[in-house]
Order: sequence, then structure tokens, then C-alpha cells
Amino acid sequence: MKVVLQNLTKVFPSRDKKAGKEVVAVNDFNFEIPDGKLIGLLGPSGCGKSTTLYMISGLQKPTAGKIFFGDDDVTEVSTENRGIGLVFQNYALYPHMTVQQNIMFPLENLKGADKLSKQEKLDRALNAAKLVQIDELMDRKPSELSGGQQQRVAIARALVKMPRVLLLDEPLSNLDARLRLQTREEIRRIQKETGITTVFVTHDQEEAMSISDMIVVMKLGVVQQIGKPQEVYDNPVNLFVAKFLGTPPINVLMGEVKGEKLYIGADAVLDVKGVSDQKVYVGIRPEGFELDENGALSCALSNVEVMGRDVSVVSRNDAAVSPVIRSIVSSENIGALTGETVRYNLKANKVFLFHAETEERIYF
Ligand code: ADP
Ligand code: MG
Repeated sequence: MKVVLQNLTKVFPSRDKKAGKEVVAVNDFNFEIPDGKLIGLLGPSGCGKSTTLYMISGLQKPTAGKIFFGDDDVTEVSTENRGIGLVFQNYALYPHMTVQQNIMFPLENLKGADKLSKQEKLDRALNAAKLVQIDELMDRKPSELSGGQQQRVAIARALVKMPRVLLLDEPLSNLDARLRLQTREEIRRIQKETGITTVFVTHDQEEAMSISDMIVVMKLGVVQQIGKPQEVYDNPVNLFVAKFLGTPPINVLMGEVKGEKLYIGADAVLDVKGVSDQKVYVGIRPEGFELDENGALSCALSNVEVMGRDVSVVSRNDAAVSPVIRSIVSSENIGALTGETVRYNLKANKVFLFHAETEERIYF
């Protein structure tokens, strides 16, 4: 089921009437989510991710714009009748019910032609439980489960009605690091097995990058960029997106373009054909540095962190906006790292220029 968001907008009235400023939580969101894909909705806290998800679910009504499931306009359809499954950050299971009763709960209120027999309900619950691999735990109470198991119950409960669209709001935030990793792989597997169109909200770029077919990066209610994770990483449209994606994060320096050459301090570090003379932000991915004793960019060496195959070199440069410059180089090359200065050549496809005021990308 494809999901179409058309000029989707949500404005909240001011909480404080006197201050009088309304909040545009989501501003003119347009996107056609392809059938059967997993979309990662990504951005810092407060950028409008949950509000977008709640509008898709019907829990919140858009101020403007429309939502389609397939060809059906569902903008005015109630949550119960949209055919969605919802999973929140806090699992919100019923503590007095068993796992089985929790999973079956959404089937209890089906009416008319949708009404199921007791056996059908049990079968459906068992299938959903199998999908998330908790079918051995059906008789337990939530308090007898780990956080990861509780979240699986919540996912099974969202799947039991066989939703057309699965909506997940930061579903892994309450899990510890190892479980988070494992559960995100599980969610990906379940999503692929069921083929349900899924929107996965997170503020964690690595999480979104690792499991999404496409990511949507938001800032202050406005969509910044939509694309495959690797494409967005390799080709950010502005400084915000460049900084938001990647671990370690992109290095940002002030630079100046003069005569189609990029200068960082006094060093001419790269040819930038077609770019007019101006001050720019320079973003350099950590993997964009090549150690070279005659390299164009000179930095003050701080320390070297060996991480097995790769080495992280920490250095400083007066033009850097970020406190340090962190490069990732192959451990074979660290022989060159002696003395107080480290010199680099830059890989052009790992260097991005951004307008000093608008922070929009400048292509070269
Ligand atoms: P996210 O999920 O990305 O952290 P939200 O969608 O929850 O962000 O919120 C987006 C913006 O809308 C925030 O500025 C938030 O304070 C505001 N907001 C969310 N819900 C309400 C509400 N019910 N009333 C007023 N403002 C709200
Ligand atoms: Mg949220």
C-alpha cells in the first residue's frame, strides 16, 4: 500500500496565549511512500516526526493537506478505520493481561463482518507472536519479560490486525544498546517478510540509515532531503543534512574560494571549478582525508586512536568550526604520523561546499 502525503501541514496554537506564537510542527510535507518500503523519518527532537506519524495514523488532524492510502483519501477517516498498526516508544502493554491477551486485544472489538471466532483470534495471535519470536512466552505477564521482549509484544499487537501501514515512533529508545541493534534487525526482517509499508521514526541517524529503504530528514517541521540512505550521505543538499548524518560526524571548516581554488587558511586544498569567489563552509567526511607528507592541508596533530583496521587521527586547524578534525585512515599509512604536523590531500567527492549564509550546497 503506497502512502501519499500531500501538502501535509500541522499548526499548533500557542500553549501560552499571551506569547501568541503558534508552532508550525509540520510544514507542507509532500512525499509518496512507495508500497512495501520502510521509510526512516529522521531529525532532531522537536522537528515534527511524531506529529507527521500521528497525522498518518489519524490520531492528529492536519491543519492542511491530505493523506492517501493507495488511492483512498483517508484524511477524514478515523484511526480505527485506517488499517494501521502503531508502536510507541513506551510499550504500553496491559500489565494484568498475559502476552497472548495483550496481542489479541485489538481483535476483541472487531464488529460485524470483521468479527472473529475465538479460535481465529488465537490463531492470529499465535502467528503474530511467531513473527516476532515470542510464541514461547504467551502465558507470561509483561512484568516477567525483558524490555526487548515487551517491545516485541507491542509489535505483535500492532501486526495482529494485519495493518496496511505500520507506524513506529522511536520504538527502540527504551532498549539498551545491544538489544537496540538486535531489535532493529528484527523489525527490518519482519517488515520484509510481511511487505507492510512502514514508517519508522527516530532521532538516531545510524538507526535510520541501517534499516531504511529511504530516509526523510526533517528540521523545524520542514523536510530537508529524501533519498536512499547512501545517496543522502554522499550528496547532502545543505549543511544541516551533512552534519546530521555520519559517525564520526563530518568535519566543518571555514574556507574561501579564490580563482576556482578552495583555500583553508593559507593552504590551497582543492580545485573547485565553476565556483565564484566567496567565503564558504567546507564539510569534509572523515574518510575524505589522505595522509601525504606533501599534502595540501596542514593540521596540528593531537592524537591517534587505533581501532583495528582503521585509525582515527585527531588534529586541529584554526579554520575548523568543530573543535577537532577527525579523519579515518587505513592503519597501513600511519608511518607518516610523526612530528607535530599532519598533512592531508582531500578526496574531492568527500568534500562539500556550503554557502556561508544560506548553508545550501554549492556544487563543483
Ligand atoms: P519530534 O517527534 O520530531 O520530536 P513533535 O512532532 O513531537 O517532534 O513536535 C514538533 C513540534 O510541535 C515541537 O515544537 C512541539 O513542541 C510541538 N508540539 C507537538 N505537539 C504539540 C501539541 N499538542 N501542542 C502544541 N505544540 C505541540
Ligand atoms: Mg517524537
